[in-house]
Amino acid sequence: MENYHSLVNSQKSFFRSGKTKDLSFRLNALNTLRGAIKNYEIDLMQALRADLNKSAFEAYSTEIGFVLEELRFIISHLPAWVKPKKVKTPLTHIGSSSYIYSEPYGVSLIIAPWNYPFQLALAPLIGAIAAGNCAIMKPSELTPKTSEMIAKMIQECFPADFISVIQGGVETSQALLSEPFDYIFFTGSVAVGKIIMEAAAKNLTPLTLELGGKSPCIVHDDANLKLAAKRIAWGKCTNAGQTCIAPDYLYLHKNVHDEFLQQLITAIAELYGSEPLHNPNFTQIVSERHFERLSSFLKNGQVYHGGKTNREKLMIEPTVLTKITWDDPIMKDEIFGPILPVLKYEKLSEVLDGIQQHPKPLSLYIFSENERIQEEVINSVSFGGGCVNDTVYHFASLHLPFGGVGPSGIGSYHGKGSFDTFSHKKSILKQTTRFDIPFRYPNVKNGLKKI
Ligand code: NAD
Repeated sequence: MENYHSLVNSQKSFFRSGKTKDLSFRLNALNTLRGAIKNYEIDLMQALRADLNKSAFEAYSTEIGFVLEELRFIISHLPAWVKPKKVKTPLTHIGSSSYIYSEPYGVSLIIAPWNYPFQLALAPLIGAIAAGNCAIMKPSELTPKTSEMIAKMIQECFPADFISVIQGGVETSQALLSEPFDYIFFTGSVAVGKIIMEAAAKNLTPLTLELGGKSPCIVHDDANLKLAAKRIAWGKCTNAGQTCIAPDYLYLHKNVHDEFLQQLITAIAELYGSEPLHNPNFTQIVSERHFERLSSFLKNGQVYHGGKTNREKLMIEPTVLTKITWDDPIMKDEIFGPILPVLKYEKLSEVLDGIQQHPKPLSLYIFSENERIQEEVINSVSFGGGCVNDTVYHFASLHLPFGGVGPSGIGSYHGKGSFDTFSHKKSILKQTTRFDIPFRYPNVKNGLKKI
């Protein structure tokens, strides 16, 4: 196993030099990164096409454009965020003033998955740089062309003792995890999240875990069915369902069951064509292992729509499965593919009970025109975040911190959330020396009397 001790040490000493704390250094680095991404836009799109058959549209809207927007937002707000924040001081502390300083942790480790291999490696890096940290990135081994592009781009932008990219798989990740990092930011599966947290515990390293899980999508009987169908088809089929916040399964009210499914089939055809397997812009499944795993689910319940696959191209068409119960294998774990199982319900309480008997989801989507129903769902179930009458879109708001809760993740990021995640909040009380209030000291004259 390779040893990354000297790299981590060289980053620690670069961090100790204090350069990364300087605002103009951070802004320079972020602008350099922005320039490089723009220069490499075409190469990045080609890499994403080679690794996952991502269309230029998806590569830009969900990866490159997303990261550029994050950079624009953070660059414009950073000068205000880095300033110590003055907060209130209680009367008991008269004479003093109180501040919160945002202090970079030091050297951070960023481990990324394969499904949005560019965005999920770069977005945390932007937060790390903005907050004044050094960083080592470990992109996914399952998307080698994109990881290679990231490594090339970063190497051209930054010295290795500031930002470095280490390519490799599980062993590389584990070798890195044995080093004493100051912060760990991990995006990936729940199972690996537990391994990362265990490794972090050895050094008491603070961390963020962006994990996954089964994100429910509820369509109530008063929903705008046509719009719901389009937004659900898009959220489920973007990146062929390989999205951590894709609607994993559908809870469909029995009164609108058949009508909604017809609308859904129409929406799928409108967005991805009547033969998605022949659509050159439909994303493939990342690996044979995942293709086999997903194909085995096609035997669950009844195929209502779709169900065709192409093993050679690792493609699975958007598929809707009905007559599904919680006992089916497809309901055991996150699906992470373009297969949508449907559970029918009559009362909302069945839905809320069903969801709450399973781990807290990363996202939840409720389609209903009734505000009381919307609020009931939001307030009864614990989940990372989500949308009312939409899917996935909350992820793209720089004003909404994104993350899970418990088994779907710990911590959050995006926009100011990214800056805060990579900053320790240091509380400082600045006390006056012009006078000294005696009451806190023992044995003061006229103080507390002995009983
Ligand atoms: P993964 O957990 O298998 O791998 C993620 C990273 O961890 C990779 O870089 C990999 O090399 C490394 N890794 C794998 N096994 C390891 C081990 N035993 N020890 C140390 N490192 C290890 O996840 P994946 O398959 O790449 O991605 C899919 C998962 O990620 C899904 O569960 C999805 O929900 C989740 N995800 C979450 C978010 C989010 O923002 N919450 C975003 C995308 C994906």
